[in-house]
Parts: sequence; structure tokens; C-alpha cells
Amino acid sequence: MQPDMSFNPGISTKVIHHGKTYADNTGTVMPPIFPSSTFSHGNPEGFDYTRSGNPNFRILESILASLEECKYSTVFASGVSAITAIASSLKSGDLVLCEENLYGCTVRLFEQVFSKFRLQTKWLDFSRTDSLKLIDELKPSMIWLESPTNPLLKIIDLKKICNKAKESQTPVVVDNTFSTAILQRPLDFGATLSLTSTTKYINGHSDALGGAVCTQDLEWEDQMKFAQKALGLQPSPFDCWLITRGIKTLPLRLSKQVENAFALANALGAHPSVEWVRYPFKSDHPQYELAKSQMKSGGAIITIRLKADQKQTYSFCKNLRYFTMAESLGGVESLICHPATMTHASLNIETKKKLGIDESLVRLSIGCEDFSDLKEDLNQQLSQLM
Ligand SMILES: *Cc1c(COP(=O)(O)O)cnc(C)c1O
Repeated sequence: MQPDMSFNPGISTKVIHHGKTYADNTGTVMPPIFPSSTFSHGNPEGFDYTRSGNPNFRILESILASLEECKYSTVFASGVSAITAIASSLKSGDLVLCEENLYGCTVRLFEQVFSKFRLQTKWLDFSRTDSLKLIDELKPSMIWLESPTNPLLKIIDLKKICNKAKESQTPVVVDNTFSTAILQRPLDFGATLSLTSTTKYINGHSDALGGAVCTQDLEWEDQMKFAQKALGLQPSPFDCWLITRGIKTLPLRLSKQVENAFALANALGAHPSVEWVRYPFKSDHPQYELAKSQMKSGGAIITIRLKADQKQTYSFCKNLRYFTMAESLGGVESLICHPATMTHASLNIETKKKLGIDESLVRLSIGCEDFSDLKEDLNQQLSQLM
């Protein structure tokens, strides 16, 4: 769906004024929910059956495309559905070069599902310069990146890899869930597809699942719309409606979350019970300069290593007042996650070690609460570790 490019308002305006509500003559300010599974043949908007399109999909798609400042966007039932849609464009024998720190469910899909269809994957540390050479050597059909990575917030030089991939016309996918288009624009760096789990920051209220793929390329857009209907990856109209509501406050929420996260990252770094803090815009981040050059701010995820064993780390997570111990991220409420036993529990010990995930590591998703409350909550539980 093409957004109207004839005017160019700022981001906060764009996400609020989405244009069409598909409810002409009613004066409705919010779009209605269109739960209809089917539409009468030959209607002017060209709807036929909700698996292949619905007014609520189109409204959200037009906002996402305007947020990303790109031509096309396709919505899906979840981030994993969006990943599935992209992977379904590949064929048996194709090789995907993947960053070795991809989101866990992406890894699981490639290793346990698409491998059965002989899709090949190779896992690389894309922060190393020698990974660029392998693009020439291995001639992959696709490159799959994520930056910052989960949970160690490694930064990948997106522009450099996209430039290299362009020489061989290799499509590059960037999972941009942790940043959203507000903080980082993969398509501007030359990525072919920008993928987002809208479940996280975009919706921001932890009450709906969704995914989206944005692109400037009509052929890819056609493939995404095809996957939406052919694989049954479409979202529900109600979830799209919720995400359309949630996205209106994305710039507002994210700026509060980033402000809290930046201040907390620096405060935590000074605490004696914290071994180290990883945050992209903290000056001791190993790729601080690169982060500054490709992101507008450091985001709202902080990863810390505690001076504590597994049992102490677990009770630290459990006893916080304002941080719920839960998977997921990006909502208005702060969450804390123990990757070794939660998001990355299924990995074997060697892989965990290689990825730097151990029992003392915790990942914080910073919400919109008052900074002083979050700081006091963390400090109080950190002092229990001394
Ligand atoms: C959550 C997440 C996904 C998957 O999204 P769902 O909406 O949960 O299916 C993909 N990538 C990243 C980076 C995520 O954080």
C-alpha cells in the first residue's frame, strides 16, 4: 500500500494521522474494526477475502510504510509469521548467511523447519570484517542480520554489509524489532527488507501480536502479499486495530523509554554488584562509535552481568517490584529476562558460551515508569547481592 508522499509531516504526526478510515460519511476519528471474513465481489477498494487483505491491514500498512519512509509494507500475524513469509521465498538448496546472534525463534525456524526443505544456513559473526569475504566466496541467496543483537546488543555495520551485498545483488534482511524505524532505518542503509515484530515497541502495550515487512521493491512486496494469503500468515483485523492504536504513541513512549534506559545504564554501571553493563550509547560499549553512527539513540534494552550465581540472579529478577520477570520487550511496563533459563534455554552449553550467555546475565526492557522508581527498585535488589 503506497502512502501519500505529497506532504511530509514529522514522525509523531505521521503515526497519528493515518489517512483513510474506510468509513466514509461517518465522521469517525478512529477507524472501525472490520471483522468481515469476506467482501462483496467488485467493491471499489478491491477487497475480496480477509486472508488476502482487509481495511484494518491496509490502515496499519500505510502507517508502517510512512514511518519507515518506504513504498510498501505487509502485515502478518506475528514477527515469526513475517520471518516465515520471507523464508518461504527461498528454495531448496539456497544458502542463507545469518548473523550468529539472531533472535531465537528465527534460529529455530531455520534449523528445525526450513532445514527439512533443504534450505541451508551458515552462521557468522557479522561484526568481523572477514565475514564480508564470505559473501563473495559462498554466494548466498540471502543475508539475514539483526542489530543490536539479543541479548548482548552487538552492533552490526548494516551499511557496510548492504553495500557489499549489492555488488552481487544479494538481498539483505534486517530484523529491526529492537530499534524500530524511529531509531534505525535499514532500508536507508541499503537493506532489501526491514522486518519488525510489531508485538514489541510498535504496539507497545503487550496486548497483541503482529509482524511487518517493509520494502522499496515491488517484486518483494508482491512476494510478501502472496505469502500473506498463500501461507495464511495474515493477522486478525482486531490485532491490527490495536496496533494501529498503539503506534500513535510510539514516538512518545520510545523517547521516555530511551531516556530512562540511558540514565539507568549509566547508574547501573556504577553499582558494585554489577560486573558490567551493555548499552549501545554507553561510552564503554565495544562498538559505541558504530552505534552512534547508525542509530538515533541507544534504544531501551540494557543487558547487565551481575556478580551473582544462578540462584541469586534468579531471585534478583523475581524480587523486583516494577520489573516483571517475563519474555518479550518493548511495552510500557518494564520487564526483566534471564536469557540462560528463558529466551535461550534451549541452546546447549557450548552455544551459550559462544554467544556469551551465562547464568549471571540479565536483560532489562525499560518501560515508561518514573526513572526514580526504576532506579530505586534495581538498587534495592542489587544491594541484596552484596
Ligand atoms: C519478538 C521478536 C521476534 C518475533 O516476533 P513475534 O511477534 O513474537 O512472533 C522476532 N525478532 C525479534 C528481534 C524479536 O524480539
